[in-house]
Amino acid sequence: MRAITVLPGLAGSVRLDERPTPNPAEGAILVRTLLLGVCGTDAEIVSGYYGAAPPGAERLVLGHESLGEVVEAPPDSGFVQGDHIVGVVRRPDPVPCPACAAGEWDMCRNGLYTEHGIKELDGFGAEYFRVAPEAAVKVEPSLGDLGVLIEPASIVAKAWDHMERIGARAKVWQPRRLLVSGAGPIGFLAALMGRQRGLDVHVFDRNRDGPKPDLIRGLGATPHHDIDDAVALAPDLWVECTGAPAVIAKAFTATAPAGILCLLGVSAPMRVEIDLGALNRDLVLGNRVVFGAVNANRDHYLSAAAALAQADRDWLVGLITRRVPLRHFAAAFRREADDIKVVIDFRK
Ligand SMILES: [Zn+2]
Ligand SMILES: [Zn+2]
Repeated sequence: MRAITVLPGLAGSVRLDERPTPNPAEGAILVRTLLLGVCGTDAEIVSGYYGAAPPGAERLVLGHESLGEVVEAPPDSGFVQGDHIVGVVRRPDPVPCPACAAGEWDMCRNGLYTEHGIKELDGFGAEYFRVAPEAAVKVEPSLGDLGVLIEPASIVAKAWDHMERIGARAKVWQPRRLLVSGAGPIGFLAALMGRQRGLDVHVFDRNRDGPKPDLIRGLGATPHHDIDDAVALAPDLWVECTGAPAVIAKAFTATAPAGILCLLGVSAPMRVEIDLGALNRDLVLGNRVVFGAVNANRDHYLSAAAALAQADRDWLVGLITRRVPLRHFAAAFRREADDIKVVIDFRK
């Protein structure tokens, strides 16, 4: 079978390899890959900044945003041939730490977790992969190709889960306004879940043209191109997806009293001058919370799948802006101007 592999740490090492079909020891369910989503994490691995091969292996099979079709599954697994599934990316650490032991591997405390296509586990970027039943999530058939959005949506479902739990520290918490900074796939999915909760949603993004402003309006949300206009909204919730230090510096104290800022973007190191005294005062006197969130556990995949199933299909389709056939896979890692979600089609 063909598989997209990299030599972690070496830029430009990505290639299409011929590999044996996976061994049953890797999981009882055999899956044929339909689509693979590509994101910033993959781009970082391809650029040599990130990623680790499985122990004893030189190369890593890339890919963590999967959509596949079950080829074979044990009778008691809850899966049957033809089911569409998504593989869970992170697996619990072997110790395990208290979080992993409780199925909350997204909150792993010792950092010894593994991740398909990222850290010490081969990814889903192969024509076939295997998963254990507990590491597979069933996709509603009517979602079709949109099931490939479940993994990125799981990250956002976790952000919402945690924002709502933080909000519950107050006896009464009725957020009205959400600001999302950064209209990439994560930002759009955060805005979607905000609309599904009946919030007044605003999305900041520098792009004035291309498909993004219409997609934002299509959700019943308001686009903004000037960060200061966005800050003036004093949102109850701010989901930050740009990772841009200039945006984050403003976001820290821009939420309404009792506001919550959730950081989802990963930044490169950059020094920005901030008044830490004023920042501390605004956080304390406003009961404001700033927190980071990464990855997702199984519950988040399930709520992501439910959120996508309830969303307008025509709107969701607009998030997949480019499809690259497997033989041209390298094109998927080259960014183009109007890209939102780029997927590699393993059927072509
Ligand atoms: Zn991703
Ligand atoms: Zn752990």
